[in-house]
Amino acid sequence: MSKALPNALWQRGWLQGVEHRPSPNFGPRPAHASIDLVVLHSISLPPGEFGNGCIAQLFCNQLDWDAHPYFQSIRGLEVSSHFVIDRHGHIIQFVSCDDRAWHAGRSHYRGRDNCNDDSIGIELEGLEGDTFTDAQYTSLCALMQQLQQAYALAYVAGHEHVAPGRKADPGPGFDWKRFRSSMGNSLLNYPNR
Ligand SMILES: [Zn+2]
Repeated sequence: MSKALPNALWQRGWLQGVEHRPSPNFGPRPAHASIDLVVLHSISLPPGEFGNGCIAQLFCNQLDWDAHPYFQSIRGLEVSSHFVIDRHGHIIQFVSCDDRAWHAGRSHYRGRDNCNDDSIGIELEGLEGDTFTDAQYTSLCALMQQLQQAYALAYVAGHEHVAPGRKADPGPGFDWKRFRSSMGNSLLNYPNR
């Protein structure tokens, strides 16, 4: 069962009832893009550390690159995702779903290149390969149901599936079986595993 989000309405691609932290890292989608894919990711900054606000700072180009040695390896990176779900299930939206967020990079799925053009990116706060919290599954399911109200979604995949060999998130700690069963009878295509 998923909990309902309050005032769950869409306004110009922004989901009402969740926190909004507009990121400058986005662009227009190509004309006539058919938004039918959700790409799931995992992220933590620095890796394995949670709840310090660094993900939101990164996506808003406000991260202090000198605050941690790891940040040197990503200095200058300009990325974003439509949504982040933290370890407590709190949802933050960074980019309108009507716009193109910068989350998937070079990618290919369901016969099409450049998944950023026509997908929605959801980052789960977590360590690649490690597990995720009950609250995250609950919020992910609630968010997916709201997305399905507004977009004709047909596919959900991990970053590892749209950029195999280059990316490995969210990794084996994400329970696709659990996610799939919590989504019930929705007509979505999942990765084969
Ligand atoms: Zn990713």
